[in-house]
Amino acid sequence: MSLIVGNRTILKNFDELASTLRRDPKHLLKYMAKELASQATVEGKSAVFMGKFGMIQIGKKFNAYVNTFVLCPECKKPDTKIMKEDRLAFIKCEACGAKKTVPVVK
Ligand SMILES: [Zn+2]
Repeated sequence: MSLIVGNRTILKNFDELASTLRRDPKHLLKYMAKELASQATVEGKSAVFMGKFGMIQIGKKFNAYVNTFVLCPECKKPDTKIMKEDRLAFIKCEACGAKKTVPVVK
């Protein structure tokens, strides 16, 4: 649920979104901010993005994050973990053991 207030877009329950995905909220926030070419901060339980973004736009980026960093490439289950080896990051599925490299979010 996102809300535009002045020049900022507030994404409510951001902490819940991240914990449902079992991902670090900072990782999700960085990814979304980068994809939206925005700056973002966490305020309480919400994420605040500089700029005006509609729900569809936010939803698309969120879904892209889920597809890239959460869902298993093989069995499509969300039971994955992000791991790092050297300078590479990848997700490993706890259900079927599949692995896929993912971009490092800086
Ligand atoms: Zn799997």
